[in-house]
Amino acid sequence: MVKSTQEAAGIAPEVLAKYEPVIGLEVHVQLLTKSKIFCGCSTRFGDAPNSNTCPICLGLPGTLPVLNKRVVEMATLASLALNCTVHEHSRFARKNYFYPDLPKGYQISQYELPLATGGWIEVEHGGAKKRIGITRLHLEEDAAKNLHEGFSQSATKAYIDYNRCGTPLCEIVSEPDMRAPEEAYAYLTTLRQILLYTEVSDCNMEEGSLRCDANVSVRLRGTQEFGTKVEVKNLNSFRFLQKALEYEIERHIGVLESGGRISQETRLWNQTANRTDSMRSKEKAHDYRYFPEPDLLPVHVSAVWREEIRRTLPELPDARRNRFAAKYGITPYDAEVLTASRTLADYFEAVVAAGAPGKSSANWIQTELLGRLSEARKPFTDSPEPTALAELINLVESGKITAAVAKRVFVKMFDSGRSAGEIVAAEGLGGQVGADAIEQAAREVIAKNPEDVAKFKGGNEGVFKFFVGQVMRATRGQANPQAVNDVLRRLLS
Ligand code: ADP
Ligand code: ZN
Ligand code: MG
Repeated sequence: MVKSTQEAAGIAPEVLAKYEPVIGLEVHVQLLTKSKIFCGCSTRFGDAPNSNTCPICLGLPGTLPVLNKRVVEMATLASLALNCTVHEHSRFARKNYFYPDLPKGYQISQYELPLATGGWIEVEHGGAKKRIGITRLHLEEDAAKNLHEGFSQSATKAYIDYNRCGTPLCEIVSEPDMRAPEEAYAYLTTLRQILLYTEVSDCNMEEGSLRCDANVSVRLRGTQEFGTKVEVKNLNSFRFLQKALEYEIERHIGVLESGGRISQETRLWNQTANRTDSMRSKEKAHDYRYFPEPDLLPVHVSAVWREEIRRTLPELPDARRNRFAAKYGITPYDAEVLTASRTLADYFEAVVAAGAPGKSSANWIQTELLGRLSEARKPFTDSPEPTALAELINLVESGKITAAVAKRVFVKMFDSGRSAGEIVAAEGLGGQVGADAIEQAAREVIAKNPEDVAKFKGGNEGVFKFFVGQVMRATRGQANPQAVNDVLRRLLS
């Protein structure tokens, strides 16, 4: 383990406590359109380098961009899910900078008139709920991908894969509303979950379809004015986001405490050294020489179209969680687990729709199904049909099989795809063990274990469990555990 950054900076906790962190995130999300934002090239991930390119996304002279309507539709859907106001008119601009991943020499982005502004999401952190403001959501094109071979300063080769160039992005800028690294983590988790529900992006951080830059500053607690901020890039996991913020906050406090000043700059998270490194001083908007994109018309989202899109909004995680808890009588925790993804929530509701009670469906899915899936390292799509799980649950509910037998049947069902009914019939598991059979088994167990009987009679209550276990085993787990308990109590007293 690396030393905690606190130790590294050597700042006393009471000094750290004098300051309040201020955090705002800029999140880039690749939209799941089939083709790019301004040309017909495929956006597929993982294709042979430079196979999905054309004169438009390669930025060749004389070409003209044409806006992909589906991009606007998806971004509008995301904006509505984030409680933003979607503007009837927005506009593209050119953001000029020179870098090999940007063949035109400018990125087409939205600047003065973004697609949407003024949204918020509710984030839970430390048991409390808090609204985090969303300043804007705007559209832009992604740049190409630089691949470096070798890591030494001098002898590296750089390759450029233009497949990514022109992939549609929406950038979601938050207000500087977060006050702790954990809050930023919670914001990003919530944002990602909402976007996944709307299905506008797969939000895969490893593949770069969700990328996050963090802006952070500190100020003395109780003061109003913000401190100078630093932007940290290259945060390709949730963990790095949190670690980088923790590191930066302590670095800022260290600089301020020693009488220094924070310079506004862009830094990179260095995951091998567990620290941030300065990359460049922060560029200002005027460095980009923004101006309206002359080759594209303003974007027009009519009220009618916007409302049409709004009608396709799915039930969002928060609403679904609340409904689950109210409608199915499950705990808020269960509701949270079951709404973690839309697929899981749909599955749960399908099991209930097939006739299984809410509470036991919730238990079966969380313990047996999710447990088995993770043990077998299988994707959720390998789950039994919801109707098959409902059938099994109802066999237990109606007393046809015991919970212990049902767990065994579940594993067989999971591995073989056979139905619970078939397995129970084929293996003769359905016969309820009658009271006589239980009593006979109990008598045999007692007769075989005189020493344990003596122990029990001498006051060793712990032995009772042993007797129950033996009788359950003798009845192949098919006896009702309560009945076994009752019979043993009677015979042993
Ligand atoms: P810039 O013009 O430098 O890009 P913006 O005003 O666009 O700055 O803000 C970029 C991001 O930085 C936003 O997410 C915003 O919430 C956040 N931010 C702005 N000021 C601060 C600050 N003083 N401390 C932390 N974050 C900030
Ligand atoms: Zn193209
Ligand atoms: Mg900005």
